[in-house]
Amino acid sequence: MKLNRRGILFVLSSPSGAGKSSIAKKILNKDENIRLSISYTTRKKRKDEVKGKDYNYISIKEFKEKIKSNYFLEWAKVFDNYYGTPRNLVQKKISNGIDVLFDIDWQGTQQLSENDGFDLVSIFILPPSKKVLETRLKTIAQDTTLEVRKRMSQASDEISHYMEYSYVIVNNDLENASNQVLNILNAERLKRKRLIDLNDFIKFLRSWGLKFFIKYI
Ligand code: 5GP
Repeated sequence: MKLNRRGILFVLSSPSGAGKSSIAKKILNKDENIRLSISYTTRKKRKDEVKGKDYNYISIKEFKEKIKSNYFLEWAKVFDNYYGTPRNLVQKKISNGIDVLFDIDWQGTQQLSENDGFDLVSIFILPPSKKVLETRLKTIAQDTTLEVRKRMSQASDEISHYMEYSYVIVNNDLENASNQVLNILNAERLKRKRLIDLNDFIKFLRSWGLKFFIKYI
């Protein structure tokens, strides 16, 4: 017997370079019942990114039109670019019991948590040190020196929002941090409040005892 449940909005946030996108990739590879919410952005595509897989890349004009037409579930300006989550796909997935993974910043997380209709679990990923963060930004993010400097100064602002999240993980080791995220995901899935058929299942289980009792009196 498999108990049904609604999908969870599973949010990962961190300062840029803390490893959240690598963790997200591991989760998506290891867990079949979660899908990535693919955002729209006005920033340029990086060399290793794939259009439609990492982001949908659009112009500022197109982005503003989508804001007007209420296309986004949440959106924010991060650094000098706009980022937004398309509403329709997320709603479809969670109503089919599929969990959705979000790689978004604290502003987006705040907007999602203000929406009562959603079941949100949020995790904040921290880098192990400032030095590691800087190195990751330089080597992995392929950003220009100016961009790295800007992102380093924004990192401390982003980190100040850690208290708004249910869980905090220090990403010392990618494999270890990903397993911790998976453990949280699996435990949250089992929470009683999320099992929508549980009452019926319990009634069914208890009815066996009643039938047995009636038969033998
Ligand atoms: P990056 O340019 O490094 O891919 O992302 C910059 C920041 O924007 C990251 O913190 C990332 O999580 C955040 N971000 C990406 N997509 C979205 C989105 O749809 N909404 C919000 N609010 N933030 C996003």
